[in-house]
Amino acid sequence: MTSDFLPFALPEIGEEEIAAVVQALRSGWITTGPKARQFEADFAAFLGGAVEVIAVNSATAGLHLGLEALGVGPGDEVITTTHTFTATAEVIRYLGADPVFVDVDASTLCMDVAAVEAAITPRTKAIIPVHFAGRAAQMQPLLAMAKKHGLRVMEDAAHALPTTCGGQLVGTLGSDVTVFSFYANKTMTTGEGGMLVTRDPEIAKRARVMRLHGINRDAFDRFTAKVPSWYYEIVAPGFKYNMTDIAAAMGVEQLKKVRVFAEKRAQVAAWYDEALAELPIVLPPHAAQGDVHSWHLYVVQLAQGVMVSRDQLIERLFSQGIGCSVHYIPLHLQPYWRDTYHLIPEMFPVSQRIYERTLSLPMYSRMTQADVNRVSNAIKAVLN
Ligand SMILES: *Cc1c(COP(=O)(O)O)cnc(C)c1O
Repeated sequence: MTSDFLPFALPEIGEEEIAAVVQALRSGWITTGPKARQFEADFAAFLGGAVEVIAVNSATAGLHLGLEALGVGPGDEVITTTHTFTATAEVIRYLGADPVFVDVDASTLCMDVAAVEAAITPRTKAIIPVHFAGRAAQMQPLLAMAKKHGLRVMEDAAHALPTTCGGQLVGTLGSDVTVFSFYANKTMTTGEGGMLVTRDPEIAKRARVMRLHGINRDAFDRFTAKVPSWYYEIVAPGFKYNMTDIAAAMGVEQLKKVRVFAEKRAQVAAWYDEALAELPIVLPPHAAQGDVHSWHLYVVQLAQGVMVSRDQLIERLFSQGIGCSVHYIPLHLQPYWRDTYHLIPEMFPVSQRIYERTLSLPMYSRMTQADVNRVSNAIKAVLN
């Protein structure tokens, strides 16, 4: 990577994160401990306090724990969107259940609520909406429908910190589980990491036990006065999904900055909107009136009739030192999902159409207006 390559994404790590990690390393306690506990407390406070939060080593781990705690298992169906990362759906297979994919709504790029209702069968157990790019899915109608049909809802909020929906932060909307990601390119990062959020104490209890080998911490803590410190009980074949204190130390500092990061990303999005306004490009959907879009991604589509293909545009931008990406290659086109569930593009016309014309432009908090102009000028040069 040359110094004048403009990458698609970059984390913003300050001296505060570096000092906090060094402090964790020097403390002698590097796995799950006081920093992880502090990160969880700070995250719960960020969401307003009335939630239980469980730090994990990835959002994928959190999604797995969430579905497991909801009791999803073999024979169950879970409805999700084809226009997402494979992690959203793979956790359904981890539990032996089957994903049922639905198309997206062109105005939000999130799951089409009517398509979800049409996909419900007697086997349907849960719905996993994805807040695509950081714009909230249509949660009010989804939650109402889930309630009507007795279905559980787990939000894949990997893109959605600090997204709001109806004026409320994602994580506080009334679903059963919400999972955030702190992967390197997300709106805040711990290198690798995630956070499971729930208001249901039973889900929280199960996820905590399954996060670390199925060790029953409650029993452990309750009787610590009576039994020696080496004693523990295994109540289930759990997983190894705990967050290290090294990662949590970063998370504590990143969380303090997440609002500032979001403001910077919103500024970058506004610069793009203006710079691209006159081009034959479909700009990304904005948040509903009064809501916050976290702008994890800035996703555009080439307008109909443009002579340059999406692939050619990405190649030309790359040759000028600009990194782009595609979100997403829909799951219905991925060999495993396509072949296992006999999926064809005609089942997902909106996602398919978007996929063929979409690209994600560089988007990260440290981008300057000059960076945005460089990207928009390069696009202009290719399209004209
Ligand atoms: C990044 C991402 C995930 C997985 O996050 P990890 O923390 O890398 O496990 C899940 N779903 C979506 C939509 C994502 O973008």
